[in-house]
Amino acid sequence: MSVDMNTIISLCKRRGFIFQSSEIYGGLGSVWDYGPLGTELKNNVKRLWWKSMVYQRDDIEGLDAAILMHPNVWKTSGHVAGFKDMLVDCKSCKKRFRQDLLKEKKCPECKGELTEPRSFNLMFKTFVGALESGANEVYLRPETAQGIFVNFKNILAGSRKKLPFGVAQIGKAFRNEITTGNFTFRSREFEQMELEYFTRPEESDKWFKYWVNERFEWYKRFGIKKENIKLREHGKEELAHYAKSCYDIEFRFPMGWSELEGIAHRSDFDLREHSKISGQKLSYFDEETKKEIIPHVVEPSGGVDRAVLAFLMDAYSAEKVRGEKRALLSFHKALAPVKVAVLPLLRNRPEIVKLAKEIHKDLMGDYKVSYDATASIGRLYRRQDEIGTLYCVTVDVESLDDKKVTVRDRDTMKQERIGVDRLKEYIRVKLNGL
Ligand code: ATP
Repeated sequence: MSVDMNTIISLCKRRGFIFQSSEIYGGLGSVWDYGPLGTELKNNVKRLWWKSMVYQRDDIEGLDAAILMHPNVWKTSGHVAGFKDMLVDCKSCKKRFRQDLLKEKKCPECKGELTEPRSFNLMFKTFVGALESGANEVYLRPETAQGIFVNFKNILAGSRKKLPFGVAQIGKAFRNEITTGNFTFRSREFEQMELEYFTRPEESDKWFKYWVNERFEWYKRFGIKKENIKLREHGKEELAHYAKSCYDIEFRFPMGWSELEGIAHRSDFDLREHSKISGQKLSYFDEETKKEIIPHVVEPSGGVDRAVLAFLMDAYSAEKVRGEKRALLSFHKALAPVKVAVLPLLRNRPEIVKLAKEIHKDLMGDYKVSYDATASIGRLYRRQDEIGTLYCVTVDVESLDDKKVTVRDRDTMKQERIGVDRLKEYIRVKLNGL
């Protein structure tokens, strides 16, 4: 990875991709806000995932479950007992560390003595209703998956799906992470895109392999270079309590290869446990064998924020063009936050500004189109390159006579004269149904 984290953090702040939460009050640790461009990029990532998972297939339905759930959900899922990190405190400098990440038994910062390890649950707690008592305690969900399992019966009844079928969901998750840092990579509030794919038990290994490959290819299809992404199989000792096997899709982040998405074979763990504890039947009647079966589950679970960060880092390059630095975000066209920028060549010529504004208005509606008249054309192009805008439309003096504008392509930097009356259709074809 050629770009370092600080370059990306400063670009994100300067251009309005990502800000620290509550910055004017000194910030809230490991919580992030997405600015105008970051919101577009993040929405595009989510839209692409949804399209690939739900619209382009006939075996997957969507769900949008609540963040707050009955506390028994998290007891049954194993999160209350098992979703913990062992922590140690330094007796001298008072800093806190995850025990499993320490290389020696002394404080890595000041070499001070450490306390005995104590377990720390990563789930955030809050209260429902007026009383702040233990009986009213609920958790902010640490993953979206459980919303799908507890709705299995509802979805099956409403959709009449046959195995294999999946349920896809995108939503917020919360973890009170201890080892933070690395920008949005490890946030305390983040978004997940999760699929639970229900299969016949005997077909689950086949579908597991299928989804590992499918998800790996998805990142490459939307621009991640193959040298920056790899698959890593979990060793037996590393597997989560529910998993039979697991692969991580890892991206070459500046701090080293790190998880972008995990694909887990969860067997029938979740449906079986929820069925046992809730007393509800969470099985599937197999018409072929006339038997009730508990489906097995394959779960591709990706982080929206990590995907956004990876797409950003992978798309970034900086080069010298005619002695000047040109920073470029060469996003896949479906991901680019701004598709078209309309730029008047001379901002003090009212007829040019008027035509440029008319064109801007005409193009608006289906995707993000921006208008910028605040600098010279060279600088305007550089600004648009830096945020990955696909096409710059420039209105110049000639445009007033020949009713044509210059369209500049981000990647080839080629310029073409296009009639104003053909412009909308020209861009529509270029964007090809986005
Ligand atoms: P890690 O080992 O990095 O803590 P994990 O194995 O605990 O991650 P999972 O529980 O498998 O993560 O969650 C699925 C996905 O959710 C991850 O692949 C990641 O993309 C995303 N994710 C998990 N925790 C965070 C976080 N704190 N901040 C941002 N994204 C996260």
